[in-house]
Amino acid sequence: MIFKEEITRETAEELFNNSEKVLKFVADIKWKEGFVCRSCGHTNYCEGKTPSSRRCTRCKKEESATANTIFHNIKFPVNKAFYIAYNVCVGGNEFSSYNFSDQLGLNQMTCWKFKKRIMDCVQKSGKNKETEISTILLTEFRKA
Ligand SMILES: [Zn+2]
Repeated sequence: MIFKEEITRETAEELFNNSEKVLKFVADIKWKEGFVCRSCGHTNYCEGKTPSSRRCTRCKKEESATANTIFHNIKFPVNKAFYIAYNVCVGGNEFSSYNFSDQLGLNQMTCWKFKKRIMDCVQKSGKNKETEISTILLTEFRKA
């Protein structure tokens, strides 16, 4: 296990099946200290169009829960992505991208790429045992 157990198995199981709950989970971590608009720095927001997104009340820019997180721009359901992230980071399972592909009904290459993205973020965090999963989820992902 790479991470402190911040997420109980029960919570994780709930999140695996519900993308809206994953979005809320990510949003809660992301804006734990409050919302700050990335465009203008304003801190007031209203609800955005997609679940758990937030829209700046000054410049009207909307930010999704997953923007600038490990789930940035993924092209498959976020609950499936969370399943992979959880198993790589917390579950201690040595699932290959083929296993994930079978379990989730996703393309193997999709699973491989996302798993690699997580592994890269884990690497960046220095594989510190005290690293919390929230740190990994919020590791900004940038295309090389
Ligand atoms: Zn703004």
